[in-house]
Amino acid sequence: MEIYNHPTFQMACQQFDQVADILDIPHDDRDRLKYPKRSLIVSLPIHRDDGSTQVFSGYRVQHHLTLGPTKGGLRFHPDVCLGEVAALAMWMSWKCALCGLPYGGAKGGIACDPGKLSITELERLTRRYTQEMIPFIGPQVDVMAPDLGTNPQVMAWIMDTYSVHVGNSVPGIVTGKPVGLGGSLGRREATGRGVGYLVNRATDTIGLDIGKATAAIQGFGNVGSITALSLARYGVKIIAVTDAFGGIHNADGLNLWELEKYVAVNRSVVGFPGADSITNEELLELPCDILVPAALERQITKENAGKLKCRILAEGANGPTTPEADAILAQRPEIFLIPDVLCNAGGVVVSYFEWVQDLQSFFWGETEVVDKLFRILETAFTQTVSLSRKQKISMRMAALSLGVRRVQEAKRTRGLFP
Ligand code: GLU
Repeated sequence: MEIYNHPTFQMACQQFDQVADILDIPHDDRDRLKYPKRSLIVSLPIHRDDGSTQVFSGYRVQHHLTLGPTKGGLRFHPDVCLGEVAALAMWMSWKCALCGLPYGGAKGGIACDPGKLSITELERLTRRYTQEMIPFIGPQVDVMAPDLGTNPQVMAWIMDTYSVHVGNSVPGIVTGKPVGLGGSLGRREATGRGVGYLVNRATDTIGLDIGKATAAIQGFGNVGSITALSLARYGVKIIAVTDAFGGIHNADGLNLWELEKYVAVNRSVVGFPGADSITNEELLELPCDILVPAALERQITKENAGKLKCRILAEGANGPTTPEADAILAQRPEIFLIPDVLCNAGGVVVSYFEWVQDLQSFFWGETEVVDKLFRILETAFTQTVSLSRKQKISMRMAALSLGVRRVQEAKRTRGLFP
């Protein structure tokens, strides 16, 4: 399985190996659980606006098909490659199983910088990718959703391309669509809202007054920005935010509503009036109660894990903490970890609701969506805390154990064909 070789894939495998030891999974079963079921790499030639032709690389990895269709985001980012996508697909499997969703994990991406493509180029690229993926996806096969660099508009193009191919409208082919096309109310806010809910539960667990807490957030995309608003509603003061271009800090708290307006115009938090500038590295080491990495993988490493000054580490991103950093955090019980597969699961949970609504053509109100979301997160949180305490393992190992165990049991019960 050399083809998947990449630091992020190695990291996902290392975590899996630790869990497999904790669960005492027979060696014969390990590779079957670990490696992706299937992967597709495509070349995507498109016409640029200047008349030239450029070829991009597209990927989709489906990790396992044991429990239902595969589910996971589509990422547009220059660093996208097979190994990264495979790691993210594996994490989706454990996340879906932890939340009891009838899915395997998947992830896809195109190696591109969406900021350097015009809207028409992005549309052509998205449609070409979808066209190439048609034999590989379907509402009962593999269902995409937004991830880094993609949004509801991209999902709408995928839905349109697929629907035109099939000959009728197929909203269940993607989630995170615009609400007018069969998207779910509350999907856009789901990940950040889930992070807020879980941080609130974590403050209860460790006896921290959330109304007096401060937070620093790395990333101000869909996850980071909604997490900030959600935490603010619980009374948290957001003191620092960074994005790909830089960051801002104000110990008295940032005015999030003004910041939202500023980012809509300037496309970055950088230069927001009334705040000092701060780097991504500085943000991670800032004294605060709640630290939320909500950007890329491998941000908390052996270099900075010993220097974190937070009480709660809430992983809005996928894979922000390396196994070496985890080993350091294991010596720092004062930091309560909400691991990625739990912390950012709100997104895929409401994606599941969207898919169910699309299949039934019967749509729910937002209160129903939020209420059902919180119920699923509550169960996953309680089970994770209780397993972590009972087995004296980290919150990450507990959450992953619950997910991996469910997939392992499903595979065992279905048996191996032929
Ligand atoms: N991209 C999101 C994640 O990493 C959402 C996936 C989905 O909704 O299918 O969890």
